[in-house]
Amino acid sequence: MTSEAPLIEVSDLTVSYPVRRGVLSRAVERLKAVDGVTFSVRRGETLGLVGESGCGKSTLGRAVLRLVEPDRGSIRFDGRELVGLAAGAMRALRRRMQLIFQDPYGSLDPRMTVAEIVGEPLAVHGLGRRSERNRRVEALLAQMGIERDALRRYPHEFSGGQRQRIGIARALAVRPDFVVADEPLSALDVSIQAQIVNLLADLQRGLGLTFLFIAHDLRVIEHVSTEVAVMYLGRIVERAPTATLFSRPHHPYTQALLASAPATDPRHRRVRAPLGGEPPSALDPPPGCPFHPRCPQAFDRCRLERPALASVGAQHLSACFLAPPGTA
Ligand code: ADP
Ligand code: MG
Repeated sequence: MTSEAPLIEVSDLTVSYPVRRGVLSRAVERLKAVDGVTFSVRRGETLGLVGESGCGKSTLGRAVLRLVEPDRGSIRFDGRELVGLAAGAMRALRRRMQLIFQDPYGSLDPRMTVAEIVGEPLAVHGLGRRSERNRRVEALLAQMGIERDALRRYPHEFSGGQRQRIGIARALAVRPDFVVADEPLSALDVSIQAQIVNLLADLQRGLGLTFLFIAHDLRVIEHVSTEVAVMYLGRIVERAPTATLFSRPHHPYTQALLASAPATDPRHRRVRAPLGGEPPSALDPPPGCPFHPRCPQAFDRCRLERPALASVGAQHLSACFLAPPGTA
């Protein structure tokens, strides 16, 4: 499986939003939410995307599905370029790429029954006759652990965890190859989170799904990801296979994130300074390394020059001037 070509290949992707500084300002500036991001995900694997709130994770996830238009860059899905693809061709591909939302409360239409919610994407893409669609919806909900009598009920009659299962059933109804899961657990109780993680892991194995899994909880990322990308202020600052990232984090930002998260594996427990302060505004990124104002290890060069994402080990990239371990 690992030798296969990537299902999704993103290169130099940049996305900005028009914003006004202050309510009275007429001048429109561009806020770069995603700035020159490059990564790929192989079939059946999961790239975990982690970083503090506002660093651009959702924008990146949506841009990869072309739900937000990028300023520049390339998105190849199964070998086809999505940037600039005509609407018709994009619609046909859209079935194969789905989004699981963060908020199982806001993302399900309260006026639709569960059967209608899960069946809608099948109807939209014209997949199967009504009776076949109904059978597929029933089978999917059974797979998600939702009882049969739920079909004619409405979203408000369910708990948060059940609603997220309904949202997942809806995303998977059209048998996608690629799924962007945007913080699918953060609105759920901790006790429910593990159930949903296990459900997603089972589905991935069973269906061979490829995931871009966005989370700010590193324990979840460690559990579900093949590879991890750490984002800071619109850029990927470290990327590595999951075991490498958790045992040998290179970037001081990754180290600080790990120090702030409770370790699940005692071998990974480490004593480091937790993350202090707030990320700077994407409208006013600091010169040099964007992390330098918060970095306990910053030195002169970091204030002047921005480090490029470069190799610090096998399949391990980091955007930091500090020497890789063992080479200093
Ligand atoms: P995350 O998902 O990591 O929290 P987002 O992608 O939601 O980050 O946001 C990245 C940056 O883009 C933030 O500075 C946010 O305020 C800004 N942003 C997000 N959506 C919009 C929008 N529609 N218009 C203007 N700015 C936006
Ligand atoms: Mg987000």
